[in-house]
Amino acid sequence: MANNIQSVDVLVVGAGFAGMYMLHRLRTQDLNVQVVEAGSGVGGTWYWNRYPGARCDVPSIDYSFSFSDDLQQDWDWTEVMAGQPEILDYANHVADRFDLLKDISFETRVLDATYDESKRRWLIHTDVGTAYDARFYVMATGCLSVPNTPTIEGASEFKGKVYHTGQWPHDGVNFEGVRVGIIGTGSSGIQSIPVIAEEAAHLTVFQRTPNYTMPAQNRPQTKEFLDDAKSKYDEIRRTQRESQAGIVGYGFGFGGADNVAPMDAILETSPEQREQALNDEGFAAIRRYMDIGLDMNANELACDMYREQVSRVVKDPKAAEGLMPKGYPIGCKRPVIDSGYYEAYNRDNVKLVDLRKGGIECITETGIQTSQGHYEVDAIVYATGFDAMTGALLNVDIKGRGGAKLREAWEAGPRTYLGLQTVGFPNLFMITGPGSPSVLSNMIVSIEQHVDWIADCIQHMDAHQWRSIEPTSVAEQQWIEHVNEIAKGTMLTAPSCNSWYLGANIPGKPRIFMPYVGGVGTYRTKCEEIVANGYEGFELAS
Ligand code: FAD
Ligand code: NAP
Repeated sequence: MANNIQSVDVLVVGAGFAGMYMLHRLRTQDLNVQVVEAGSGVGGTWYWNRYPGARCDVPSIDYSFSFSDDLQQDWDWTEVMAGQPEILDYANHVADRFDLLKDISFETRVLDATYDESKRRWLIHTDVGTAYDARFYVMATGCLSVPNTPTIEGASEFKGKVYHTGQWPHDGVNFEGVRVGIIGTGSSGIQSIPVIAEEAAHLTVFQRTPNYTMPAQNRPQTKEFLDDAKSKYDEIRRTQRESQAGIVGYGFGFGGADNVAPMDAILETSPEQREQALNDEGFAAIRRYMDIGLDMNANELACDMYREQVSRVVKDPKAAEGLMPKGYPIGCKRPVIDSGYYEAYNRDNVKLVDLRKGGIECITETGIQTSQGHYEVDAIVYATGFDAMTGALLNVDIKGRGGAKLREAWEAGPRTYLGLQTVGFPNLFMITGPGSPSVLSNMIVSIEQHVDWIADCIQHMDAHQWRSIEPTSVAEQQWIEHVNEIAKGTMLTAPSCNSWYLGANIPGKPRIFMPYVGGVGTYRTKCEEIVANGYEGFELAS
């Protein structure tokens, strides 16, 4: 039981970019805000994911806060896509600049939260014995903050070192002279493999599903480029907010919103033209085609081009064959951007184990046993992803009106209105919750939009003396149907697609497509219309 209960206006869980900006924004409204964070520092994703090669996969000019012009004018990114250390420095800079630390309790995990309907307040308990009594409760807990470590027989028998990319040691890991085994070839695996390969004595990659990945084309940022970008921030930010994915790709070589300027229909190209495109641009040629997201035949042609390019880059034909994705479309999983991924397989010290030919059976004291053989390793790296989107929300025992549990309300999958609120849990807000563009966008754009919406909502409530807000069941149901409807027919929900967007990476998780496909621009307009119509679909009570 908590010894002391602190009364606040708003309790925010999480000190990643979402929690940090929420704190700053609410302070400007003279509210008493407390942030609770499990880690010992700010930055969320960039605090936890310190694995070798971790970096942003959208340009940093885009992936940065827009709320303070002084901040964006003062901060100089050194690379087009910044690495994790630089993004963490940025998060710490923001925390210092806006004096955030004094209202954040670190190394404190929220365990449960219960709504008291008679008082219209939340009571929140932490694992260090503190408790908070709050008018509003904001989950800024992140979509990718609960690492997934698969249950593999014998795992506890392993005598070597074990790491997860999402919980990387803060003082780094020295792989010199070490035989490393890495499980997983999503973004984290694909980013870390080339870097670990350079240091380790040997690297064995255990790959269950080969991925489609595009070269990052990262490079150092020049002063001229930064000066130019800084003079155009107003336009860049406006374009981001109106775009599909919140990415302008400013100065990145592609031009146009969302980093892509597809022009051609692949179905109208000849084999010779596709061959020429690959000769000219390699993997990047695939970005040219506008129909691969719309038509399965077009997509399959692009997959053929992709596989052809893999065979051009990877010298060993057996390894190349093993690295070729098959049986699911490009655009089903989260896009992956790499720096020298396929080239890593041309090194003598890197071996691919294609688990499609025989999966992992168990972990032994000395390595990983598959049905293809035993692989001796000194260290295992799990690059096996996250319990995405709902993991952190459901980790907290949240009880709403009448003691109803969120875990039960979402048993068949998450239910939200706009990804911001859920029926039965008044005054609880989620930042980038399921049902919002969130992980389909540059998340800083989506975070800022949600934070501003929530802060404006609280201001509106205080101005009109409303004490609680909650969606209506009808509005929530209609929103869920809309989210499902627009995802239908896209590559994201193709029957052959198994992604964490669908919860398919976690055994037993309901297969529901969780994010909103409509784009950040459309979504923002909808949110604004809802406010203009007097918070349409929400019930405000005094
Ligand atoms: P997070 O940064 O995840 O922060 C949530 C915080 O909440 C964490 O620090 C966690 O410790 C804390 N927390 C959770 N539960 C509790 C609890 N019960 N009690 C106390 N604290 C709790 N997005 C992009 O748009 N572009 C990218 O290039 C990109 N790259 C990524 C790279 C990696 C390796 C990963 C994992 C994700 C990436 N993302 C990217 C997504 C990224 O998560 C978001 O961009 C953004 O950083 C999320 O910020 P957040 O504050 O919402 O959540
Ligand atoms: P992920 O995309 O979920 O990839 C996990 C990998 O582990 C997959 O290859 C998966 O195979 C494999 N795996 C899981 N369980 C396994 C098992 N039991 N046996 C063998 N293989 C197993 O996770 P992630 O790579 O950490 O990326 C998650 C998300 O974080 C990304 O999609 C992205 O949104 C974000 N991220 C971004 C960046 C960036 O570039 N900025 C970097 C890292 C992460 P299957 O495919 O077969 O399930």
